[in-house]
Amino acid sequence: RAIRSETASYYFFSSEMNAEAQVRLGIEGDLRRAVERKELQLYYQPQISVATGAIIGVEALLRWLHPEQGMISPARFIPIAEDSGLILPIGDWVLSEALRQSRAWQDAGLPTITMAVNISAVQFRQEGLVARVTELLSAHAVDPTTVELELTESMLMQDARVAIELLTDLSDLGIQLAIDDFGTGYSSLSYLKQFPVDKLKVDQSFVRHLTTDKNDAVIARATINLGHSLGLEVVAEGVEDVETFAYLKAEGCDVAQGYYFGKPMPADQVGALLAAQRESAGAPVLPVAAHG
Ligand code: C2E
Ligand code: MG
Ligand code: MG
Ligand code: MG
Repeated sequence: RAIRSETASYYFFSSEMNAEAQVRLGIEGDLRRAVERKELQLYYQPQISVATGAIIGVEALLRWLHPEQGMISPARFIPIAEDSGLILPIGDWVLSEALRQSRAWQDAGLPTITMAVNISAVQFRQEGLVARVTELLSAHAVDPTTVELELTESMLMQDARVAIELLTDLSDLGIQLAIDDFGTGYSSLSYLKQFPVDKLKVDQSFVRHLTTDKNDAVIARATINLGHSLGLEVVAEGVEDVETFAYLKAEGCDVAQGYYFGKPMPADQVGALLAAQRESAGAPVLPVAAHG
């Protein structure tokens, strides 16, 4: 934040901001090399069918193992990647790597699941995204219907008319589209119904405490109903315990994702879960089984 507004806010530049700006610059430089040095990795978090308890998808989540600083959270480095434009090569790597992994699970004879990939605002507006997605789907021979792109509400609302065109082009490829972090931006409901998307992801800030916070419970329920009224599937993220899962199930939520079922994990662990699910003939292999 400090870097971009450096000249404009010159007179307000404190030594504390300066230190923060330097840390950002350092991270930016390291990030530039991270892709080549293979320090970036994708972890995958299971998404569960509320009705059956089966794993029906995963969300690919970026991890950066910095050589000196250890694991750096995407919440920390993605904003820096966006400001510096580095998000473009990184986002391209994420898409390609996620599709490569999807193909590898298919080749291993594992159950077919959806691969959800986060797209940044800059990536979404980048010229040629549709062509690139098309190219990667074909390069990895992945069925488009098993791929989902997650876009945030705020990035769609930035220029809703352009967003509708882009979403339409992406949707025409046969892939699924989800609105991420729903409820945290400023959605116009009149635009929402025009967006050709398939899913709403209820933001985890409304899910995590819904068993103790009445307002969150009401918002989660209203969002599920809104999504269904618009013909969309609803995914809840941030499900951390069985009580939350039970509430979402009672409210008719379609898909659940959260620490209760599993944290984001390396690909081989997902592979093992999918193999177990294949052996169990679709019966749940994650905690939901133990609680019925
Ligand atoms: P997101 O897309 O909303 O992803 C969900 C985040 O919630 C992930 O954090 C996940 O680990 C976390 N989460 C899931 N279930 C629970 C739970 O039950 N409890 C709690 N406390 N947290 C849970 P993560 O992996 O740190 O990612 C943070 C954000 O960074 C993502 O939010 C997304 O906006 C961004 N991000 C991550 N990977 C990528 C990527 O490949 N590309 C882009 N553009 N953004 C990414
Ligand atoms: Mg997401
Ligand atoms: Mg569609
Ligand atoms: Mg989210």
